[in-house]
Amino acid sequence: MSFIIKIENASVIYNEGLINQSVAISDINLEIYPQEYVMIFGPSGCGKSTLLNLIAGLEIPTTGRVQLKEEIISEMDSDQLSKFHCTKIGMVFQSYNLLTSLSVRDNVILPQIFLGSKNFKERKEKADALLRKFGIFEHADKIPSELSGGQQQRIGMARALINDQPIILADEPVGNLDSKSAQNVLNILKELNEKNKKTIIMVTHNPDYLEQAHRVFYMKDGKITHEVINKKSKHIKKETSQKEREFDLLARSFPGLSEAQLHTLMIPFKAKVLSEYLLTSMNIDQIQRIEEFIRKRMMGKLAKFEFRMMLDRSFEKGGVGLDERTASGYSYETEKIIEGAKLLQRDLKEVASRLNMEEMRLKTKLITKYLIRSFIKVMEDQQKRRLEHLVGMRLKNEIGAEIFSKVLDSPFKKGGIGLDKRVVRKISRDLEIILLVKFGTKVE
Ligand code: ADP
Ligand code: MG
Repeated sequence: MSFIIKIENASVIYNEGLINQSVAISDINLEIYPQEYVMIFGPSGCGKSTLLNLIAGLEIPTTGRVQLKEEIISEMDSDQLSKFHCTKIGMVFQSYNLLTSLSVRDNVILPQIFLGSKNFKERKEKADALLRKFGIFEHADKIPSELSGGQQQRIGMARALINDQPIILADEPVGNLDSKSAQNVLNILKELNEKNKKTIIMVTHNPDYLEQAHRVFYMKDGKITHEVINKKSKHIKKETSQKEREFDLLARSFPGLSEAQLHTLMIPFKAKVLSEYLLTSMNIDQIQRIEEFIRKRMMGKLAKFEFRMMLDRSFEKGGVGLDERTASGYSYETEKIIEGAKLLQRDLKEVASRLNMEEMRLKTKLITKYLIRSFIKVMEDQQKRRLEHLVGMRLKNEIGAEIFSKVLDSPFKKGGIGLDKRVVRKISRDLEIILLVKFGTKVE
């Protein structure tokens, strides 16, 4: 099949040559095929929006080129570009980008006017049909702010479709929505792909949505690190929201549950988090299988060497089917996390008889040592003390994960720890996983 979008060696560099030069994306190569549903996944700031804007023709590549079928977007003049944008691309944004002074209907009609449509009746009919399709027709004459977030995003989607654009680009379209409205918008996107044959490219930093896509591009530091093909994406049933509910419920009832109950209840969730942590170039079948093995490993039903063996045993023979090096890497990562969890548990047992305060202090010391040993290696004493204090606050849940990483990242002079961004990411991720698995993990 031939591509609908092709990007070759594209980079976007802001403020090139200046002191504040910033490379938003570099060396991007990808092809997207007609009627595909593709997601771009990665942490905030990794360049997802820049990549999407490049495809939309809203951003010009500093190097490389962007092609839509036979047309080279990166070489179009501004008239060609705006025509291209109006007829080929529908964009949906996290913040809806609606005009506050126009009615709901007029917001939807707007791209028709840009296209030069003079037939008032026809464009009104088109808009109304879309508003009906999305269940917001009764609000057509209101202004957008009178509607809920979910409804406003549906206006955004109607606007993205009114010129019958074949490609929909959605930049974190559900980032501002509650989970019910988010699901509604995701369902619409899925239907637009399946029934209306739209090519969809959606940007997200939420791993729960990824299985809806045919393909996922993972991004980091401005590059595509790998691509995952969800071959059976249509047949996979959604379990994520249930797991989320389970975890929320658990988190809320935390104090009331015995360790044994937590142990049983949290295993599926822990396994999911761990497998997401390890997720790279695996397909859905492999992911499901690795999740099962991690669960067994955590429950102590698989020994370290058995777990390692199942990772590179071929898929046909009941393994995950990873290549040797990847299997070894995954096994190492998994054991490291289990090690961290064990540390906490052992410590819990050892100091069970002491005062609560003392216990927490010891636990904090151990975890801090573990983090420094794993990720930092060399550190000033003052930094160490600060890190230990911070870890203590996080373990006692006095601060959340976000503040924790923020302080790690802030310069030392400003009261932070002043760590490298990549180290910050690793430490935060590991500590959160340790916090998640600290109860009930039973190994050896
Ligand atoms: P994401 O959408 O993944 O959060 P972005 O594509 O918005 O990431 O940004 C990628 C990188 O480029 C970030 O480091 C960001 O700070 C930088 N960046 C984005 N837009 C600009 C701009 N207009 N000027 C300078 N730097 C920018
Ligand atoms: Mg963005």
